Amino acid sequence: MNVADSERVSSALEHLGYAFSPVIEEADVIVLNTCVIRQSAEEKAYGRLTSLWPVKRDRPEVVINLMGCLVGIKDNQPLRKRFPYVDVFSAPSDPSPLVEFLIQRHAHETEKAETARRYAVMDGDLLLPHPNIGQQVIGWIPVVYGCSHACTYCIIPYQRGIERSRPAEEILKEAHSLAAQGVKEITLLGQIVDRYGLDQPGYPSLADLLKQLSEIEGIERLRFLTSHPNWMNDELLNCVAELPKVMPHIEIPNQSGDDQVLEAMKRGYTTEQYRELVQRIRARIPGVSIASDIIVGFPGETETQFQNTYNLLEELKLDIVHLARYSSRTGTVSERLLVDDVSDDEKWVRFRALEKLQEKIIREIHATYLNTTVLILFEEKVKNRWKGRTPTNKLVFVESEENLIGQIRPVRIRWTGPWSMLGNLE
Ligand code: SAH
Repeated sequence: MNVADSERVSSALEHLGYAFSPVIEEADVIVLNTCVIRQSAEEKAYGRLTSLWPVKRDRPEVVINLMGCLVGIKDNQPLRKRFPYVDVFSAPSDPSPLVEFLIQRHAHETEKAETARRYAVMDGDLLLPHPNIGQQVIGWIPVVYGCSHACTYCIIPYQRGIERSRPAEEILKEAHSLAAQGVKEITLLGQIVDRYGLDQPGYPSLADLLKQLSEIEGIERLRFLTSHPNWMNDELLNCVAELPKVMPHIEIPNQSGDDQVLEAMKRGYTTEQYRELVQRIRARIPGVSIASDIIVGFPGETETQFQNTYNLLEELKLDIVHLARYSSRTGTVSERLLVDDVSDDEKWVRFRALEKLQEKIIREIHATYLNTTVLILFEEKVKNRWKGRTPTNKLVFVESEENLIGQIRPVRIRWTGPWSMLGNLE
């Protein structure tokens, strides 16, 4: 989501006539987009922000924009006081404060006024940074902003606000502009992406939206994330199974394999329901890959409750499990009402146990790809190899003299490991 938000700022700046600079010291405008999902992310954001102070001191004309979840959706006075060298504060997904600041600043220059008008006209057209045109294979489009679910541990609803689906026309327009700039794969984003449209009367469903996006020439692959077990429905599963451009990969976090912990998290489903859903997904979409998120060390999580999570993952054998150690977030229900009583050491022990289990599972799953032929969409060159993905979102590296960027090619898999595979062009 943050990558997508940053791309929107970048697009707004391109419209205003700015160009991307890889060197911070040479930039006229510096945007720091931030995440606070866990304490570690927040600390990193503060670290980066502090490191920008000498840049501003040496070049007072530089514009510093602090964006994202560190700022949140409320007027953030303490932050403004603490970081007076920040020129613009903006909420997640919202480039407009920066755009308005830059337009104001340059109002006296006729040329800039002209670009401001251009921006107003072209708003909604997603411009990639100029060097990325024809090079950037993957694009991200947020379709639902914010979240109204309020899992007890999660800060997102507070920092990103209530759920707001975007109009389908806007999404389609962005997809068309990405396709015209060479993007081949689009991932639709939302905290509960399957709820797309449900907050607005008359909006299409996510499945309908995927159907419309499927018709765009140039877009070869579509993905969406993140799903929530309560909102994944048969219409969507049918759409993944039937539409050739919608890839067989589902990101559906369960967070815990213990019913009491799930209840304390207010996730809204039981372990049994999650198990059944995984079976339903696998039955409807043969060869599907399934990813999940797990939090270890939620307040009060006992050894036995953790073991239930371990056992469930051992049984379900999911393709990817994003692991997190519980991090208490100020203002969330679990921070206010529960004690963060699992020690840091114990959280690490549980984290490593799942990491080890998952590595074993994924090795086995990947080994089934050996000597098969898969269609790979190539994204970029990393060192001397082309990096691409299978429809199931697995990383594959291939050596070739050809420039493979943006191409979909059949690849014979000749080596598999837990994190990637190697193959040869057929
Ligand atoms: N809306 C999505 C993604 C939320 S953020 C969802 O609900 O699945 C991505 C992941 O960060 C979550 O799935 C969760 O596993 C993790 N996470 C969120 N809050 C956390 C916290 N306070 N401590 C540790 N991990 C957290």
